[in-house]
Amino acid sequence: MSTLRLHPETIAIRGVKEQTSYNEHNSALFLTSSFMFDDAKTGAALFDGSTQGFTYTRTNNPTVAAFQARVAQLEQGEAGLATATGMAAINAVFLALLKTGDHLVASKSLFGTTIGLLNNILPRFGIEVTLVSQTDMAEWQAAIRPNTRMLFVETPSNPLNELADIAQLAELAHRHQALLVVDNSFLSSALQQPLRLGADLSVQSATKAIDGHGRVMGGVICGSAALINEIFLHVRTTGEVLSPFNAWVLLSGVETLYLRMEKQSVNALEVAQFLSTQPQVVAVHYTGMTNHPQKALVQKQQQGGGIVVAFEVKGGEQAAWQVIDTLTLFSKTANLGDVKSTVTHPWTTTHGRMAPEAKLDAGIQPGLIRLSVGLEHAADLKADLSNALSQINV
Ligand SMILES: *Cc1c(COP(=O)(O)O)cnc(C)c1O
Repeated sequence: MSTLRLHPETIAIRGVKEQTSYNEHNSALFLTSSFMFDDAKTGAALFDGSTQGFTYTRTNNPTVAAFQARVAQLEQGEAGLATATGMAAINAVFLALLKTGDHLVASKSLFGTTIGLLNNILPRFGIEVTLVSQTDMAEWQAAIRPNTRMLFVETPSNPLNELADIAQLAELAHRHQALLVVDNSFLSSALQQPLRLGADLSVQSATKAIDGHGRVMGGVICGSAALINEIFLHVRTTGEVLSPFNAWVLLSGVETLYLRMEKQSVNALEVAQFLSTQPQVVAVHYTGMTNHPQKALVQKQQQGGGIVVAFEVKGGEQAAWQVIDTLTLFSKTANLGDVKSTVTHPWTTTHGRMAPEAKLDAGIQPGLIRLSVGLEHAADLKADLSNALSQINV
């Protein structure tokens, strides 16, 4: 049956699978580093590419192949490529597609480790980087040079939930023969499909929403067959591939991704609406709120508000720490997208290495708290937050 006319919820469960002759119902786990050839002639054909097949897990593996093909179907890409982590996916995109003398324009509001890669590693290879505003198209446009080969963005941003317009950035990139790459980790394939909006590549940290249970690391890149093949040739040489075991765990994550993201978005909205009524709360940043400043864009490019809610409390860092330490249903950990709710203090953790002025410039205040809302009952989460906020004297 063609999967093209099926809904994504169905594809997540019934999409590409490697079926063996044992008729296993769940996806098989091929925990093997190499595959045997029927004879020397077949081995030669597999190696020269005249026959397709599995040879060695650094190059390809059936469990990994099923995972990457399944996510590519959800992202509406021709092909997918799985990597060891989300950072491996991002690194592979840059190093496979850029070379010395090329220029890249990226949002200032990217994941901190991605900023580190752009600022500290790419320049060592002679790749120039310009960081611009997440939301100001004029800044993106002004940053373009004749040697600009790639635009890189993450939307919505962490932790302030500011959107970048994927369709407009794609148009800008293509007008200058550059590629647009979108980090889709925050919303995942369930709530946003960057390729459908014109992006050339969509990358995701599968560690986050796709796993959803905080178990394994992984990354996945989706796009055209030609671009994915270029990155594949790089990755099979440099070796940042996904373990078959992790691919097997992530495949079961994909099966419940829609259900989880839908329910977690409902919980996140309830939590955000509750926080916005609290006297100790100065600001709430959530893309699902009806007063989000980019509401029209949210409706155009996202299928839900997502799971990350950021809010600022009165009383700065001290009050924020007090709230965080009083919460009992939010784990103090940097992971997000988990079925368990989590809480972090961006000022001293994810953004801790930035200079105070740079943090303030980016809108990160000492009183800001980031939640990743999970699958607990929303009433319990609100009661926990209410109790924690009552510790602050206003
Ligand atoms: C976590 C994360 C990454 C990095 O993924 P890892 O799997 O931790 O390497 C990249 N981008 C975003 C938006 C993330 O949240």
